Amino acid sequence: MHTPPAVPTIADVERELLAEFGPYHIGPIYYASADDAARARRLEAERRVAHAARVAAYLASHPRDCVWCGAPIGAAPFTMVGLEPMHVGRCQDQFHALAYGNDGDEHGVDALELEAA
Ligand SMILES: [Zn+2]
Repeated sequence: MHTPPAVPTIADVERELLAEFGPYHIGPIYYASADDAARARRLEAERRVAHAARVAAYLASHPRDCVWCGAPIGAAPFTMVGLEPMHVGRCQDQFHALAYGNDGDEHGVDALELEAA
């Protein structure tokens, strides 16, 4: 199940980097000065936020429709069937009932759910 990505704030990403790498590293790179590390952490956070904003803008400008009902996915939870998005819930249950002959109570097709890259 997927939801559209949210764009984090720079401060949030800086906190995540600090928690993940500690005060003197950004990834594998060591900084002897905590101030230098803080500047590098800020630059990396700005880079990651800019990337997330580009991804969100792309997804917003390329809206996708549910392969089952044809309605826009929007902010609704969805799963991937093949390479197409499908609403989780009623659409997925109807698809499973048709494709697999069940009443929608049992899924067992988690292999169809793909993780977003
Ligand atoms: Zn749908």
